[in-house]
Amino acid sequence: MSRYSIFSLARQALSHHEGWQKAWRSPDPKPAYDVIIVGGGGHGLATAYYLAKEHGITNVAVLEKGWIGGGNTGRNTTIVRSNYLYDASAFIYEHALKLWEGLSADLNYNVMFSQRGVMNICHDPHEARELMRRLHANRLNGIDSDWLTREQVLEFCPALNPDPTIRFPVYGGTVQRRAGTARHDAVAWGYARGADSRGVDIIQNCEVTGFRTEQGRVVGVETTRGYIGAGKVGVVAAGHSSVLANLAGFRLPLESHPLQALVSEPIKPVIDCVVMSNAVHAYVSQSDKGELVIGAGIDGYVSYSQRGGFAVIEETLAAIVEMFPIFSRMRMLRQWGGIVDVAPDASPIIGKTPVENLFINCGWGTGGFKATPGSGHVFAHTVARGEPNAIAAPFALDRFASGALVAEHGAAAVAH
Ligand SMILES: Cc1cc2nc3c(=O)[nH]c(=O)nc-3n(C[C@H](O)[C@H](O)[C@H](O)COP(=O)(O)OP(=O)(O)OC[C@H]3O[C@@H](n4cnc5c(N)ncnc54)[C@H](O)[C@@H]3O)c2cc1C
Repeated sequence: MSRYSIFSLARQALSHHEGWQKAWRSPDPKPAYDVIIVGGGGHGLATAYYLAKEHGITNVAVLEKGWIGGGNTGRNTTIVRSNYLYDASAFIYEHALKLWEGLSADLNYNVMFSQRGVMNICHDPHEARELMRRLHANRLNGIDSDWLTREQVLEFCPALNPDPTIRFPVYGGTVQRRAGTARHDAVAWGYARGADSRGVDIIQNCEVTGFRTEQGRVVGVETTRGYIGAGKVGVVAAGHSSVLANLAGFRLPLESHPLQALVSEPIKPVIDCVVMSNAVHAYVSQSDKGELVIGAGIDGYVSYSQRGGFAVIEETLAAIVEMFPIFSRMRMLRQWGGIVDVAPDASPIIGKTPVENLFINCGWGTGGFKATPGSGHVFAHTVARGEPNAIAAPFALDRFASGALVAEHGAAAVAH
């Protein structure tokens, strides 16, 4: 695989850019692999990449039923932060954030990671106390977090409504300055290219339809392109994780909900940070193309349709317009939905399953994009060694039996 650089760009320019190699191959599946990863989203591709890079396991296939990055990876609002409340969450999201900081260089692929700062605003003293609690917890874990007064919030994002008489006036906020956004497609493509160059087969349009087991141990997967043998299998299928668990004969404590996002027509730069309000339930940033990227909360019902109800969009836009009256006459350009896999404690599930050599990485729900590098990194370790490392261990499936939940619902695992 040739490296991307200023020199390769100049060299290709001489031949009118017709000589670029494909970023990854499209091989036919082999009869068997050491490891099969089910799901070609960012998490699955990152797992394959780190399996090859860190553990020397290169006889790996990523099986994707559609196209890589076509699931939640290509549908999210790309907010990356690590300011979660509980230690276990702080450790895994901060592990991911540190990997984000070197990711473009590591992959030799520009994932456009932009540390523009994520600001959480609050609207009353009660919310301020909750945010302050999280700020102190973050600082104890070495995660950057600053308190902003009302004046500082309005200075940080001048487009916000300063009117103190509105229903949810700005009261204060916190900012994580190392947090920000990244280009979601580039993350999938960068990991795919990196994994492929180390020998991983990325096989698209290949749906896993069943698991073959012998004496409680997985030995391969049935797919729409035939049977493929496997030494180990890692399932990283986000909203379809419980469907796959069902095929393998066990149940996951997950609900799959639609989560929507939308973008506006492009405008000149107006917001250079990410603004989140948990109470009003709206999130906004501006893409490099100039579109406002707006996230909503989940639709209340369970569904596998990649769309959502209009009521949610209406509520979200009402909230955005209250926070940012200057957007009131803007037109929305596109709206879409993804299927998010929500666990009862809003924390991921990483580790072993009741089927030997079958591992699972799911439950990232509304907020797993930010975890992509860290999730792939710790899951590759889990699959390679057969045991989770210290960062992944608290997220084992058996916490739902032991009661050792990592209860981020209502703490920091709000949508995104
Ligand atoms: C609207 C929206 C906004 C969001 N905003 C944010 C945000 O701002 N910040 C953040 O951190 N997170 C956010 N998220 C969550 C984030 O997108 C996900 O947690 C993360 O992308 C999950 O990545 P993944 O690789 O696990 O899943 P996916 O990208 O969904 O990949 C799973 C893949 O598995 C494939 N698959 C399923 N079944 C099978 C099968 N049987 N055989 C083969 N392949 C199969 C699917 O086709 C899919 O490509 C948002 C999500 C949505 C929907």
